[in-house]
Amino acid sequence: MNIAQSESTAQDTAINKIYDVVIVGAGPVGLATAVGLRKRGINNILVLDQTSAFRQVGQIVDLLPNGLKALRYVDPEAYEAVREASLTFGDFQQSNNEKTPKKPPLASLEWAIKNFEGQKVQSISLDFGVWLQKYGEGRVSISWYTLQTTLRQLLLEEQVKPNHRCINVVDEPDYGYVQLDCVCNTSSESNPYEHWVGPNNHETQPQNSNSDPQPSVTKSFRAKLIVAADGINSTLRRILYAGSSNQAFAVPEYSGFAAIYCTEIPDIPDELRSHLEEKFFAGSPIVTVSNYEHTRDTERDVSESLRMLLIARPSMGYVGHLPIPLDSLQGKSGSDLLDLTLQELDKAGFPDELKELVQLSPPEKIQQRPYYIHRARISENAWSAGRIVLVGDAAHGMPPFMAQGANQGFEDAMVLTTLIADIAKENNWDNKQAIVSAFERYERFRRPFMEYIQQATLTLFPHSSNQAWEEYSQKVYSRNFDEVAATPNS
Ligand SMILES: Cc1cc2nc3c(=O)[nH]c(=O)nc-3n(C[C@H](O)[C@H](O)[C@H](O)COP(=O)(O)OP(=O)(O)OC[C@H]3O[C@@H](n4cnc5c(N)ncnc54)[C@H](O)[C@@H]3O)c2cc1C
Repeated sequence: MNIAQSESTAQDTAINKIYDVVIVGAGPVGLATAVGLRKRGINNILVLDQTSAFRQVGQIVDLLPNGLKALRYVDPEAYEAVREASLTFGDFQQSNNEKTPKKPPLASLEWAIKNFEGQKVQSISLDFGVWLQKYGEGRVSISWYTLQTTLRQLLLEEQVKPNHRCINVVDEPDYGYVQLDCVCNTSSESNPYEHWVGPNNHETQPQNSNSDPQPSVTKSFRAKLIVAADGINSTLRRILYAGSSNQAFAVPEYSGFAAIYCTEIPDIPDELRSHLEEKFFAGSPIVTVSNYEHTRDTERDVSESLRMLLIARPSMGYVGHLPIPLDSLQGKSGSDLLDLTLQELDKAGFPDELKELVQLSPPEKIQQRPYYIHRARISENAWSAGRIVLVGDAAHGMPPFMAQGANQGFEDAMVLTTLIADIAKENNWDNKQAIVSAFERYERFRRPFMEYIQQATLTLFPHSSNQAWEEYSQKVYSRNFDEVAATPNS
């Protein structure tokens, strides 16, 4: 199947080289996998990405103890580089590397969770050392682009190719390799967010700066193994699931939640600003506000509630997580989104001062992002087919409510690089049975945990009580990966 054959005007058939592993997608998980393979002496690899050029895009990603432990296992050098490049909340929005003057320290390095009255129902430390002490590893925040750049720089330049959009993959059983076709379009300006946008949204097609059709070429690559790390809207997953019992899961499903946000609200009247600082921020850089009626010691269900993340720095702003139907977002202007948010805040009983803040958002600065999920619990053997294996968001993308997407992807990379290193060690590149069984072990090992994480993300049960948070934290953050990484081989 070639889903974009008509776009190509020329076919490059000079494909003699056979790579050991081609990775589709230079996001954090694809790159971590490549870095881990290099670390294990597997250098005949290539990473392909559809983006026309690597550039500053994406949001802040929190890397938590499980993700950092996995990354350290993948490659200690990658772990150190990511830590070095990360932001610290004490000087939030400034890289450790930057020499610019620091902002005054925040009063409190915590993420506060508050009810409408401004009462704290939970607080989560943002301090590396606090997490380190509790779970044997810290936490950092880093922009998606910095994470991508940091990992990319650990690979050779010729090992990572932008401007290669994978459109087709064919397992050639008689030849012992997989062929991958990519479209390259040197004049396109693809939208690097496209893989986070919905499958039915016209924005999923690359956005050209020029509306005229641009010339493109199709290039083909051969590899013993293909790692599909092409994000939640994965093309490779669509191809693998086409015509199979997993066809219904070829595209991710809407999670029921969308973000409507404005992270830069200018001209907030002093009175409102100080009121918000006093009642909600109280020195925290970030606060979640929702309809928490009870104190933290009482069970509460917040899974269906509208939640508002208030951000103090660098400018005051918010991200609303709204339980709304997908079609209420479609074709909406900034002013429509503003009206929708105000209406939903009103319906949910949010206090007036938060509605006043939202009211001040300039419509041109309001953005929206529907959240999708690709459920881990679909069927067995859904993450691989022959020599092709899915990782990261391509295997199990989800909304970011528990900040686990990249962290879980690093766990995938840890397990998979261990198993592929074994294939290399045994020189099993031509032993399809060994490959299939390695990929099945990867899925058997990772999928139950992913189901747990997705359940936590969709129901937010870890936030239902202190005890639930403690149990979840122990289960997710405290694991010892030296033991875990050895398990899939047994
Ligand atoms: C607002 C927001 C906040 C988040 N916060 C956190 C957080 O705090 N902690 C956390 O762990 N996670 C967080 N996440 C999730 C995290 O960003 C993702 O889980 C993570 O980026 C997944 O990595 P990935 O490499 O699997 O996929 P992606 O990061 O989506 O990368 C996929 C790559 O594949 C490329 N690609 C796509 N299709 C093709 C194709 N056909 N051919 C070639 N290349 C292709 C894309 O250009 C992209 O570079 C957040 C996500 C969002 C949206």
